Amino acid sequence: MFDAKALKKDFPILDQQVNDEPLIYLDNAATTQKPQQVLDVLNKYYQEDNANVHRGVHTLAERATKDYEAAREKVRAFIHANETAEVLFTRGTTTSLNWLAQSYGMANLKAGDEIVISYMEHHSNIVPWQQVAKATGAKLVYLELTADGQLDMTDAKAKIGPKTKVLSIAHVSNVLGVTNPIKELADLVHQHGGIIIADGAQAVPHMTVDVQSLDVDFYAFSGHKMCGPTGIGVLYGKRQHLEKMEPVEFGGEMIDFVYDQESTWTELPWKFEAGTPNIAGAIALGAAVDYLTEIGMDQIHAYEEELTAYVMPKLQAIDGLTIYGPQSSDDRGAVIAFNLDSVHPHDLATAMDMQGVAVRAGHHCAQPLLRYLDVQSTARASFYFYNTIEEADQFVAAVIAAKEFFENGPI
Ligand code: PMP
Repeated sequence: MFDAKALKKDFPILDQQVNDEPLIYLDNAATTQKPQQVLDVLNKYYQEDNANVHRGVHTLAERATKDYEAAREKVRAFIHANETAEVLFTRGTTTSLNWLAQSYGMANLKAGDEIVISYMEHHSNIVPWQQVAKATGAKLVYLELTADGQLDMTDAKAKIGPKTKVLSIAHVSNVLGVTNPIKELADLVHQHGGIIIADGAQAVPHMTVDVQSLDVDFYAFSGHKMCGPTGIGVLYGKRQHLEKMEPVEFGGEMIDFVYDQESTWTELPWKFEAGTPNIAGAIALGAAVDYLTEIGMDQIHAYEEELTAYVMPKLQAIDGLTIYGPQSSDDRGAVIAFNLDSVHPHDLATAMDMQGVAVRAGHHCAQPLLRYLDVQSTARASFYFYNTIEEADQFVAAVIAAKEFFENGPI
């Protein structure tokens, strides 16, 4: 039986008062909190095992290397990749996407080619491709959204064609909460000889992801959005692509032989991991994977669906409140961007904070999307499995209290 209240106790940070009210943390799309199990592993690593990886023969170096590579295997199993050589550790989704743009994009694109993205992308899946388009002369093409904020598949079928060399798209939107049909899109782009990259920053933390059954060429995500630390993330890539790609960073760890004028690269995955990696971060990400696996990704997903179905109608019942994206909880996940007619989202978020409720306000690193929706900024509540039904009620009550405060003044 899924027990959010019990799981919440694993997160020491959540047991505190903010502005004299119990903290209700609803900014999980920005970053998630870390359970004691992950904090303990981080601590143990630095207290007992800290050493550099791959090059030492002493006991600590061997221990650190073993744990670092064991974390890679945990991540491989978690996303169902074929082999650990296909799992590269990066700093996060942004770095993963930049590596792809720099390495795959710069080498494979030319004038006349098209890079296809959508209007719901995070800046980290827009700006690197703008740079590639500028440098290579390839064109950046945007897929449209339907009226309720889902990917418009009719438009996708019209725009994805023989010119499409790269389709790079969010698996789950960090604003609209929608899940895109990655397998269908993979089939479509593959038919035309292109590749698909999925930005899984908001997917991997919330659902079972199988990169092989999705048939993605590349998949990017961040550790900090799935109970792991900041500064560690993953780039999955099919071996056939990674073998052909040049590394983006050069230096120690990634070489085989270094001569006066040239060098050769070591094998996958280390070919891409120049310099001392984020060893503690990778090991702690492995611990986060263990933690999530023990709860069960399907259970987490089902609970978040339940939470979304619970909170959506309560928000929709508030006069003057607009939710962006699908209006039915069946079509979306537990990230809800919204506005109140009468209140600026920054004022709303501040008023919520006064009640202990942490929500985000702003453009959510998705300016083209907000322009597309014709809105300057929104408030956003994003839930995770440790948010309880009681917290959902308190969140709705806090929105109503903030609305009344701004409309009528303090009572
Ligand atoms: N893509 C999406 C959909 C995201 O939500 C985020 C983080 N908000 C990113 C990419 C970027 O992730 P990071 O900042 O961890 O690199």
